[in-house]
Amino acid sequence: MSDCCEKYPDFIAICSFLNVFGPQIEKTGEDSVPSPCTLKNWLEGVETGRPTRKSVNRGSPLTKFIFTLLSKLTIEREKCKDVSDVDRFLVAFTLTQGMTYQYALLRDWGFENIPLKEKIAIIRRLLEAQLDQNKNVIDSAMFAKGFDIRHEPLGRDVAGNFYWHFVEGRHSLVVKELINPKSEPLCLVVKNEETAQMLLAHIKQYKPQKSEKNGEKVRKSKTATTCGRCRQNFKNEQILDEAIRFDNTEWFCPNCEQQKLIENVTEFFLTEE
Ligand SMILES: [Zn+2]
Repeated sequence: MSDCCEKYPDFIAICSFLNVFGPQIEKTGEDSVPSPCTLKNWLEGVETGRPTRKSVNRGSPLTKFIFTLLSKLTIEREKCKDVSDVDRFLVAFTLTQGMTYQYALLRDWGFENIPLKEKIAIIRRLLEAQLDQNKNVIDSAMFAKGFDIRHEPLGRDVAGNFYWHFVEGRHSLVVKELINPKSEPLCLVVKNEETAQMLLAHIKQYKPQKSEKNGEKVRKSKTATTCGRCRQNFKNEQILDEAIRFDNTEWFCPNCEQQKLIENVTEFFLTEE
């Protein structure tokens, strides 16, 4: 399987950030700040649009984006003035950020040639640095409510993987965060009923399991927790980590979480207004 962005949890954080603060990073109207989907294409080397003479001269769209991010940071603003400086200043940036592994890779290979995983880690850190140093982002973060910043996932399947969605115009990009290493990654632009059904089919391939995954059902006792949905009791030590919570304040068993995920997908993408 080829390398893809959705294998790395840092990519989810990047999508979230772009969704909330993307328009604030660069206010001059240049299209140098990509949507999550476009960034994925850039990172995975999918050509989008025709390269113009200008863009060839000024580096790839990805390099331009990195340049934009660097040029918004107060520490680098004075020095990083040209796209050709990007590699040099990324080396300095990773060093000041204590990213010693990425620093060594960048120094020896340059951004375009390092593994996808490290590119994603660096972009995440560059975005987080905007929260400290980019005035537009700082201003909008002050007015953003906690709820806006903390994107709710769509839900979780029985294997424990989270599904996040990021609105892109009239579509949604749904990315699965891999918690269970045996699971297949997923990144899907949901734009019509067909793609919504593909998402549902992907989720439903994880079959609810009786004893192993869902915990042993037991009598109600001090060492048992009751599922807030199916009201069955489960041994505490078999309960997965803390439940993600939507409007429910109770713990849901994995089977019920998957059922809720399926309902959420149906409600978001298949219910007519
Ligand atoms: Zn349940």
